[in-house]
Amino acid sequence: MRIAVGGIHTECSTYSPVLMTVEDFRVLRGGDLLASEYFGFLEAAGVEHLPLMHARAVPGGPVSRVAYEAFKTEFLDRLKAVLPVDGLYLAMHGAVNVEGMDDAEGDWIAAARSVVGEGCVVAASYDLHGNVSQRIIDQLDIFAAYRTAPHIDVRETMVRAWSLLVNALKSGKRPGIAWSPVPVLWPGERTSTEDEPAKSLYRALPEIDQRRGILDANLMIGYVWADEPRATACAVVTATDKQAAVCEAEKIALSYWEARNHFVFGPVTGPLDAMLDIAENASTGPVILADSADNPTGGGVGDRADVLKALLDRGFDGALVAGITDPPAVAACFAAGEDARIKLRIGGALDPSSAPVAIEAEVVLLYDPGPADERQAVIKAGGVTVVLAARRRPYHNIADFERLRLDPRSVRILVVKSGYLSPELAPIANPNLMALTQGVVNQDIERLVSERRARPAFPFDRDFDYTPRARLSARWQD
Ligand SMILES: [Zn+2]
Repeated sequence: MRIAVGGIHTECSTYSPVLMTVEDFRVLRGGDLLASEYFGFLEAAGVEHLPLMHARAVPGGPVSRVAYEAFKTEFLDRLKAVLPVDGLYLAMHGAVNVEGMDDAEGDWIAAARSVVGEGCVVAASYDLHGNVSQRIIDQLDIFAAYRTAPHIDVRETMVRAWSLLVNALKSGKRPGIAWSPVPVLWPGERTSTEDEPAKSLYRALPEIDQRRGILDANLMIGYVWADEPRATACAVVTATDKQAAVCEAEKIALSYWEARNHFVFGPVTGPLDAMLDIAENASTGPVILADSADNPTGGGVGDRADVLKALLDRGFDGALVAGITDPPAVAACFAAGEDARIKLRIGGALDPSSAPVAIEAEVVLLYDPGPADERQAVIKAGGVTVVLAARRRPYHNIADFERLRLDPRSVRILVVKSGYLSPELAPIANPNLMALTQGVVNQDIERLVSERRARPAFPFDRDFDYTPRARLSARWQD
């Protein structure tokens, strides 16, 4: 049996002015795709793997039309070249936004379907922060999404989708999908599966998988920073029994709707000044402060210096800010060399709407692994150490600090651009605080400009009724 593999995977805030280009993506092609850590598990006896292309980027702004069309054309060309195929596995995120286009995944998946034909079984894995549409569901036979946020079940989810696909081809029984939109749009920071009520809602899903006629049950939170018509939460159920699928999708949808008023931020959360007051008085450490509106892993630009400025204004001693994306500042540090003292303007390097801060700093360390966009610089201004990066990236793993000879455990306060903390940082936070900062993934959801999303939608609207109505994939209707 011949199964083709590929996809496109990122998350795009339509509030960001910084378009993603081809260079922002890490692209795996052909044999490199199967050899990668990401896809390396795709083993199955009797399967002929046909690796196509997978393009993945740190979340950000909308993808440029040129970049998207280039990836899509290459993907489809590679798909046409391996026809005929029995199955197609698409590893998607689900929140791609392309400039001038709605429902990018719908466009991608529909194009793939038109190449492989109606007889091919198509499976997709998704991030639970992806947005789903009828067009997407209509092209798919199998759907499986993460059940954890922070995402610690990426591989398990891909295995679920892949195994369902292999089993469908082996058995000759093609599953189908029912989905039920839920007009709720909460950010991931309020719906972490480490906290209630999401914890219980997601814990219920594996049990639903076991019910008669059901294969895979999903609750999608959706992506709120995409002001486009498809943005919504939903339940998605892959099944062999239509009635069971409709019933379970509506039950999952109703469970989310009924819990909608109970989603709160996990850590102590508040305005930046209030959070820095707490940090200054903390007797434990490290305080890990999340600069939530500029989180690159949620679509934030990652170039803002607001927290740095506030720390300097307070004369905070013992702070580490990791990191701020600022290519010109990194270049200036490299030109000056280690141990040099230089004047820098930091912040607003990519999004000019955010204000820079002028500082005088010592260049502590230059990190140069080769490519210019991988360069990083560690600088120190007063009691604040700052990591500057040449490209948009998070500092969410201990190794990100170790390679810069920094120890996040030993500082008084660590500022990271993050929402909920990563699995590696959460255990060392003592305590964790989240600042409601400014940026393109602002947590003040109700005040987001809302011009194109479907209404009513909670919490933008609060006074409306909702009854779940599951719909079947067009491929599953008799
Ligand atoms: Zn996600």
